[in-house]
Amino acid sequence: MTTVGTEAQPLRVAIIGSGPSAFYAADHLLKQSDLVIEVDMFDRLPTPFGLVRGGVAPDHQKIKTVTKAFNLVAKNPRFRFFGYVEYGKDLSHADLVEHYHQILYATGAQSDRHMGIPGEDLTNSFPATAFVAWYNGHPDYRHLQFDLSQERVAVVGVGNVAIDVARILCLSHEELARTDIADHALEALSKSNIKEVYLLGRRGPAQAAFTTPEVKELGELEEADVLAIPSEVALDDVSRAALEAGGDKAAQKKVELLQGYAERQPEGKKRRLIFRFLVSPTEVLGDSDGRVAGLRLAKNELYASDAGSIASRPTGESEDLPVGLVFRSVGYRGAPLVDVPFNERWGTFLNEKGRLIDPTSQQPKAGEYTAGWIKRGPSGVIGTNKPDAVETVQCMLEDVAAGQLLSPSHADRESIEKLVQVRQPNYVTFADWQRLDEIEIANGAATGRPRVKFTSIEDMLAAIGKNVTA
Ligand code: NAP
Repeated sequence: MTTVGTEAQPLRVAIIGSGPSAFYAADHLLKQSDLVIEVDMFDRLPTPFGLVRGGVAPDHQKIKTVTKAFNLVAKNPRFRFFGYVEYGKDLSHADLVEHYHQILYATGAQSDRHMGIPGEDLTNSFPATAFVAWYNGHPDYRHLQFDLSQERVAVVGVGNVAIDVARILCLSHEELARTDIADHALEALSKSNIKEVYLLGRRGPAQAAFTTPEVKELGELEEADVLAIPSEVALDDVSRAALEAGGDKAAQKKVELLQGYAERQPEGKKRRLIFRFLVSPTEVLGDSDGRVAGLRLAKNELYASDAGSIASRPTGESEDLPVGLVFRSVGYRGAPLVDVPFNERWGTFLNEKGRLIDPTSQQPKAGEYTAGWIKRGPSGVIGTNKPDAVETVQCMLEDVAAGQLLSPSHADRESIEKLVQVRQPNYVTFADWQRLDEIEIANGAATGRPRVKFTSIEDMLAAIGKNVTA
């Protein structure tokens, strides 16, 4: 029997998804000097990089430079990208098992969490994740329409996604026009009538999930006054004690910034961005046409829970906040994939340190792994996915040493390529993507933008001389 991981029989790995955790995992695999490893990466979109392209805000270009490192990974001759090839449609689980020794699922968190309150699905109530995907030109979301004729908007949640959404709603046309925001979003936002954006936190400022630089950035907006309510950003005893005991300088700075916003007087800018804390939406209120008319908010107080965290509970008071548009930004959620064990409660694949777990036997499924948000849930910044992916790859390498692999009958590069050619003749290679990338960048250069994104799969394929298939 040929030893797997040698020139004669490289270890063949399929990675499903091409976001940060997929590339970090590929990088770590290809860096192994004592094993010959070949990586094939698949994405259902023609474009790679997952959330770096579809999630990171268009005015945060610096964060996107991480793709330079991913490009270096893709240069390795043992790496191949198969874009526009969908797991579960073009390739099945059985196909992968037949062609690879190991399969790594890194499909991210494509869906959103719900608040579970009445009225959540009224017209003009949207998941923030859909708005983010829309302004970033994700092909699945390009046809969405958001009613930006409304004057008052609420963003529920105080994480970094909520901050991104609020900031994009408040940036001036000139600020947005310097970014790679999708053209359809640039045009729609240029006609926006929005005057007030509320960010709603159910706990206090010290517990807010957003990070300090992101809050600071809001205070520097050209066209929006940033405000907070003094009584809501004042520290309660429990939070003060926790902040002092924890010695968390960043959290202290965050609270100070928010308290500073509460002292600001509005300068009469075009828009207002207003932080609210200690309020939980209990109902999305509708008008007679089924459109959002407001949010019912329960007022909260904080207490130290038995679990050791600082939690909120209702005081019994409530208020109605009139808004015509609601974005719920209470977290992303992973979506299941056919033939991959899924934990419904957490919205992640069932795994231990990245090894997929068989739900019946509770034992690891030989040769199958996961990394990134679909492994651990939607937390952390892009770089957080590096140690996460490395942890999974360590398990993969241990299993190679222990001989715990799949037993593919066609463990060669050519067989899978031939199969992909049959199933999806228009698949996109990394070289194809690089051509598309160059075209987008050239189109942007003409108007001083980092790039102009293609937002439809048809246009992407046409630009690189391919035809669309159903
Ligand atoms: P997140 O950081 O987990 O924040 C979720 C927010 O929703 C929290 O404020 C949470 O409050 C609130 N929430 C949850 N359930 C709620 C409910 N039923 N009612 C009211 N509020 C509720 O999630 P995210 O903003 O989607 O971000 C995901 C990850 O991406 C984070 O790690 C984030 O830092 C990262 N990210 C980073 C950047 C950046 O670096 N610039 C940009 C975007 C995203 P509680 O704390 O009370 O649960």
